[in-house]
Amino acid sequence: MAVQKNQSWEPCFASRMAGMQASEIRELLKVAERPDVISFAGGIPDPALFPQNHIRKAYDEILSDPILAGKALQYSLSEGDADLRAWIATHMGSKGIACSPDNILITNGAQQALEFLGKLFISPGDTALVQAQTYLGALQAFAPNQPIYDDLQLENTNRTSSSYRSTAKANDSHVRFSYVVPDFANPTGETMSEGARGKLLDLAHRLNIPIVEDSPYAPLRFEGQPVRSIMALDIDQCGGIERSKVIHCGTFSKIFTPGLRVGWVCARKDIIARLCLIKQASDLNSPAINQLVMLHLARGMYDTQVSKTIAHYRQKRDVMLEALEKYMPNGTIWSRPKGGMFIWLTLAKDIDTAALLPKAVAQCGVAYVPGHAFFADKSANNMLRLSYSLPSISKITPGIAKLAEHFCVD
Ligand code: PMP
Repeated sequence: MAVQKNQSWEPCFASRMAGMQASEIRELLKVAERPDVISFAGGIPDPALFPQNHIRKAYDEILSDPILAGKALQYSLSEGDADLRAWIATHMGSKGIACSPDNILITNGAQQALEFLGKLFISPGDTALVQAQTYLGALQAFAPNQPIYDDLQLENTNRTSSSYRSTAKANDSHVRFSYVVPDFANPTGETMSEGARGKLLDLAHRLNIPIVEDSPYAPLRFEGQPVRSIMALDIDQCGGIERSKVIHCGTFSKIFTPGLRVGWVCARKDIIARLCLIKQASDLNSPAINQLVMLHLARGMYDTQVSKTIAHYRQKRDVMLEALEKYMPNGTIWSRPKGGMFIWLTLAKDIDTAALLPKAVAQCGVAYVPGHAFFADKSANNMLRLSYSLPSISKITPGIAKLAEHFCVD
């Protein structure tokens, strides 16, 4: 029988692949790795902050103890290491979320938690409520489940629970869950007020849907009073985690390192049990050795590492805000984040940030993420996300100056 050459497997792919496209951010990160490019693109921690020596010592200690090494290199519980879950439960408790280790599932970063939550709640054609600009990685994590998105609006809006319901109904759909990044959001850098958090809780109760609270940046507050997490507010109202509609995703990626891939979900036990089934099917367990190392770091230096990270990124944010003020053309507006890693820029209406990106990289040696990447409907041509976390302080001002010139000339 003749063998067909270069046969496309496209017809064999599952329908879920239709919603899965290459990530613009990942493609950009490849370019940003070039040493001549000043990258404001990826939301990447500064490697200068990684506690490399502590990490090396923790691996050494674990691997030189035969009993610990046996545990670290073995398959382990799908829920995650019991001691790490206990540390996280106490940590959540200090943030007003009283919970037990049974309310915690360890995941390979918050990203895996988002993927699992998409699997848990969304069937093809279901509606998910997401904010107009939202974390691109969440849209990617939910995509295989083929959701329909509706624009979650919480302030200055006439959207109500019945309007969300009827929009879904018009699409032959049901609203299944809502997703937010409430603190120093990726991509806008903005923080939801307590009022907006209350409105979201009210909406979720009326629609009888869970709220996914994705919170990787909350510990990185540079100034001002912390706003209580949506889960803490809900627990106050409903009387305990087992009645809460909020599912909270946390991570060590932005504090210690994303390289060990340790994050968690905090939720009522029945949700954790379902997610645990998904975890078993997906990868059995997160690497035990990385969990033990993370526990070592968390116990030994969580608070000092948070303070160090805050001081470092606050300085970078200040330099970037100053440079924007000095160089950006009139009519440009930007967010002034009180923490986290991102600034959101809105340029004059006729500027197309996606079209200008290749030239910005090739001619100016500066990278950013065009705003449309963060919209489920790919709108927002004149916006972009800047991240100040990665470039060295000395590169921020020249990078912004070059970018501003690029936007003026084009
Ligand atoms: N959520 C948001 C809002 C993020 O910005 C990121 C990282 N870019 C993640 C989740 C994933 O983080 P992790 O490294 O914990 O998977």
